[in-house]
Amino acid sequence: MKSEMEVLDDGYKWRKYGKKSVKNSPNPRNYYKCSSGGCHVKKRIERDREDSSYVITTYEGVHNHESPFMAAYCNQMPPGMPWTLNPNSSPPTST
Ligand SMILES: [Zn+2]
Repeated sequence: MKSEMEVLDDGYKWRKYGKKSVKNSPNPRNYYKCSSGGCHVKKRIERDREDSSYVITTYEGVHNHESPFMAAYCNQMPPGMPWTLNPNSSPPTST
C-alpha cells in the first residue's frame, strides 16, 4: 500500500512504544501496540528501503475487542433494528 501517512487509520487506537533502526535501511521501524486495555495486539510499521513512500505494516496477534471505529459505527443504529419494529418497546438492557 502506498501512503504518505506513517500510521494508517485502521480503526484501532495505537500507542507507540518503540523504535528500532533497521540494518541497511535509512528508515527506522516503529512499534505500536493496541491502546485498548487487555489487548496485546502489536503492529510494526516500516518504510520500504527501496521506495520510502511505501509503508509496510505488520500485525501481530488478534484483537480481543471490536475496533473503536466499528463500535462507533454500530452505535448509530439504522432504523429496522429488532426493538425499533415495536414503537412501544425500549432497547434491551443488560439487566
Ligand atoms: Zn486491540
